[in-house]
Amino acid sequence: MPASSRAPVAGSWVAGSWAAGDRAAETPTARVRRARRMAKALAEAYPDAHCELDFTSPLELLVATILSAQCTDKRVNEVTPVLFARYRSARDYAGADRAEVEDIIRSTGFFRAKTNSLIKLGQALEERFDGEVPARLADLVTLPGVGRKTANVVLGNAFGIPGITVDTHFGRLSRRFGWTTEDDPVKVEHEVGALFPKKDWTVLSHRLIWHGRRVCHSRRPACGACPLARWCPSYGIGPTDPVQAAKLVKSPAEVATSL
Ligand code: SF4
Repeated sequence: MPASSRAPVAGSWVAGSWAAGDRAAETPTARVRRARRMAKALAEAYPDAHCELDFTSPLELLVATILSAQCTDKRVNEVTPVLFARYRSARDYAGADRAEVEDIIRSTGFFRAKTNSLIKLGQALEERFDGEVPARLADLVTLPGVGRKTANVVLGNAFGIPGITVDTHFGRLSRRFGWTTEDDPVKVEHEVGALFPKKDWTVLSHRLIWHGRRVCHSRRPACGACPLARWCPSYGIGPTDPVQAAKLVKSPAEVATSL
């Protein structure tokens, strides 16, 4: 059957009815509608999705996000209480004793490079932003150790300014969902952002990341246990048998110890 004749009509989706070729036949309006139905299903599946790093200020979130590179949020949350009690301001990080910081954050991995970033971050904040974390993407990305992903995490979660966080999960899932064909994170950010109201961007990011960690894994996605199956063009790339798929769904404890 040609892809165009199988293109979904609102309300007619069943798991497996979509194929990658259908994306070409999908109108922009239909894509927005399908994407928003998927987002609604994600909201129902993960009503309490949130940033899993512990913080009480923009500086703490910025530091925690830098530490979370190649490290679980759980591990970061284990070291930050000590770090945050010892280093309370940008000035504290700027003048930090390198060996002491390395010692505190050692278990997060890449601790020398991360210590370097934290000290340079403190210096840059002191020199250019009066010791305050700026609330603009264009400023945040000029800081040492801060890329667009980290900047959007801080904007969305510490400042309440909507941001899309394209990490490995977000990129993989939005391509599987047929929301984008882009690989470049900035292009993904813009293409997916255009499908949703801006106010929803931050929580949407959390929900995709939660779904990626729990169900839509990079290697064996649990398609047969997935609440998005009926709208997903990638349904079937993982096991569709419900019993087999259910075994692949990660528990909160398993998620806490995975990247
Ligand atoms: S688990 Fe399967 S059906 Fe669900 S979103 Fe991922 S690829 Fe699609």
